[in-house]
Formats: sequence, C-alpha cells, structure tokens
Amino acid sequence: KFEVAFAGRSNVGKSSLINSLINRKSLARTSGQPGKTQTINFYEINKEIRIVDLPGYGYARVSKTSREKWAKMIEAYFKVRKSLVEVILLVDIRHEPGEHDKMMYDWIKSCGFNGIIIATKADKISRGNWLKHINIIANKLGVENKEFIIPYSASKHTNRDKVWETINELVEINEEYRN
Ligand code: GDP
Repeated sequence: KFEVAFAGRSNVGKSSLINSLINRKSLARTSGQPGKTQTINFYEINKEIRIVDLPGYGYARVSKTSREKWAKMIEAYFKVRKSLVEVILLVDIRHEPGEHDKMMYDWIKSCGFNGIIIATKADKISRGNWLKHINIIANKLGVENKEFIIPYSASKHTNRDKVWETINELVEINEEYRN
C-alpha cells in the first residue's frame, strides 16, 4: 500500500484538508487545542492509497522535550516507511513560512521527496493575489518549480481534484518503479 503523508504546523488547516480530500465532515478531527495530537493518524482511501496525518509542529507553547519527541517519532516513521511516496508540506497561503516550515521542507527534500506544497486557506485571499503569495512561499522555502505549490481551500474544496491527481500520479510513478 502506498502512503502519502501530510505535515504542517499546528492550525495550518491539516485536519480540514484531509476531511475535504476524503469528503467527510469530521473524520479527521479539527481541534482547538494545537499541539495536543501527538500521534500519527492513518486514513485508508482505497486498495492502493493510505493518507498519513503527521502531528502538527512548531507550536510555541510546546516544551522542548515534546518537540524532541515529535522529531524522533517523525524520523522513525520516515525511516521505516518504504511505501511512503511523498510528504506534502502544508503552509498557510497568507503568511511567509516560518523557520520550522523551512526546516521541515529541507528535511523532506533531503529524504528525496519531490517537495509538493499545499498552500492552505486560499479562500482567505483573492485569486488575483495567489501568485504573489506563492512567490513568497517559493522564495522562503527554496522551491524551484512553482507548479509544486498548490493553493487549496478546504471550505470550498478548491483544487481538490488537482491534489488527488497529484497523489495518483505519485502512486503511478512508484508502481512503475516496483514493476
Ligand atoms: P490543523 O490544526 O492543522 O489540523 O488545522 P484545522 O484543520 O483544525 O484548521 C485550523 C483553523 O483553520 C480552523 O478554524 C479551520 O476552520 C480553519 N481552516 C482550515 N482550512 C481552511 C480553509 O481552507 N479556509 C478557511 N477559511 N479556513 C480554514
């Protein structure tokens, strides 16, 4: 089974994105308690695909020990998952990514993933401003291909098909490798 993981800082809109992708109102819980969910959640999509919900990071109130625990858990997860086809980073379209996002993105790239990014809450800015914000994100994180940054709105399901297309493509490429 192929896995696609989602990572992002707390409150970036990860639960909302997963709910939107799987078309359910509340399978992935959206909680008002950032930093609380410190477990990895799995969602079975079909015979081939499993979505992986990595715990949110970068929450200021979280202690150093729990941050270290988070890093250890993610690192252990990355290591054992041979079937992991991509770790998709979520960033809020409105804000320049922070240092934690940068670290996470560098880490993802160093693991050999493509570096696909979803820019969440895209409905909060007008479509005409998307490119400007995408450029800010690309510059901060060092994204070579701006096509890799997909604006998304969980409330309007904007670009839902595009994200599924991307996931299916990644799975197909990996299937070809295997055969
Ligand atoms: P998580 O902590 O990353 O799982 O974030 P949540 O999914 O719980 O979302 C955090 C907050 O952002 C909640 O108040 C959501 O309603 C809001 N939110 C998430 N996605 C969107 C979106 O696409 N559009 C808008 N307008 N709000 C969103």
